[in-house]
Amino acid sequence: MKTFLFVGLLLTCAGCGSSDKNPAASEPSATAPTAVGAPTAAAKIYRWKMITTWPKNLPGPGTGAERLAEMLRKMSNGRLDIKVYGAGELVGAFEVFDAVAEGSAEMGHGAAYYWRGKLPIAAMFTTVPFGMTAQEMNGWLRYGGGMELWRELYAPFDLVPLAAGNTGAQMAGWFNKEINSLADIQGLKMRIPGLGGEVLARAGGVPVAVPGGEVFTALQTGVIDATEWVGPYNDLALGLHTAAKYYYYPPWHEPGPTLEALVNKTAYDALPNDLRAMIEVAAQAVNDDVLSDFTAHNIAALETLVEEYGVEVRALPADVLAKFKSVSLEVVEEAAGESELARRIYDSYMTFYAGVKRYHRLTEQAYLEIR
Ligand code: CA
Repeated sequence: MKTFLFVGLLLTCAGCGSSDKNPAASEPSATAPTAVGAPTAAAKIYRWKMITTWPKNLPGPGTGAERLAEMLRKMSNGRLDIKVYGAGELVGAFEVFDAVAEGSAEMGHGAAYYWRGKLPIAAMFTTVPFGMTAQEMNGWLRYGGGMELWRELYAPFDLVPLAAGNTGAQMAGWFNKEINSLADIQGLKMRIPGLGGEVLARAGGVPVAVPGGEVFTALQTGVIDATEWVGPYNDLALGLHTAAKYYYYPPWHEPGPTLEALVNKTAYDALPNDLRAMIEVAAQAVNDDVLSDFTAHNIAALETLVEEYGVEVRALPADVLAKFKSVSLEVVEEAAGESELARRIYDSYMTFYAGVKRYHRLTEQAYLEIR
C-alpha cells in the first residue's frame, strides 16, 4: 500500500508540483491546461481486461496482478479501468499469450517460460537454472539490455512485455518420497516448467506441464510424484503440504524468476502518453512489490508448514545438484541456437551474468557468507 501511494503521488502530482515555484500556474484560467492525471468531462475511459495464468487472487502472483490493475485505476483517476481474470475464467492459463496477442484481452499476467513451446528462448526472461537472482535479473532487464531484447522477441506477436513481479529464490519443491541420490530422480514425474523441466528430463526425470490451479490435484491423485511451485507463502495457500510430505531446497531451477505483464501493442499504442507511462511505472512498482510480499510472508509460512503441519525440509543431495548443473549449461546453450535473436539474448544474459557474478562474489555473496 505504501508503494502504491508513493507512486500514485509521484504521478498525479507530476504536473501540480510546479505551482509552488510558479504562482501564475495556480491562477484560474479558462484556457489553462488540465493537470496531468485529472480527468476532464471528456476524458476517455479505457476499459481493459487482464487475463492471468494464476488462480484468482492467489497470494503473490495473483494478488500482484490485482494490485497492478488497482494502481493503474487510481493513478489514472479511473481512466484506465482494468478487470482482472483468473486462469480459466476467460481463457486457460496457457492460452494467455495467444489471447493477448490476438487482442481478445488487452493485458495478461504470467511468466515468459510458459510460452516455451512457441518461443523456447523466452524462458530466459523468467529464469535460468543456476542463473541470476532477482536483484541480478532486474539489473540486466533495466540497465543491461535485457528489456530491449525481450520487447524485440515479442514484437512480431504484437505484444509489449513488462517485468511485473519476482518471487525471489524459490524452493526446489514438494516430493512424495525422499530423494537420496540421482537414482531417485529416474522416471520421477514432476511438474516443473521452463528450462528447469528440460534439465530434469535430461537427468532422467519426466517434466509435466500443469498450471497453478491444477497442481494440488495432480500431486494428490498421483498424476505427478513431485512439483515445484514457488515458496512457503504461495505453496501453503495452494495446500501442497497436504499432498506431499518432503519439501526440498535449494532452488537450483528458479533462483529469481521474473513475472511478466503482457500488453497488446495495438491497444498500448492507442493510449495517450501519460497512461503508457503509468503502465511502465506501475509494472515496475509491482515488480518490486511482489518480491517484498514474498520476502516478508515466506518466513511465517515456512514456520507454519514445519511446526503445524509437520513438513520435512530436506536438501537435495550433491550428486543430483551436480547432474542438474552440468545439464543446465547444455540446455540453455541449445535454446540459444533457435535463431539469431535467441543467440543475442543468450549472449547478453551470459555476459551480464558473468560480470555480476564476479562482482557479487565480493559483495552480496561474500556478505551472506559472513553475516
Ligand atoms: Ca516455480
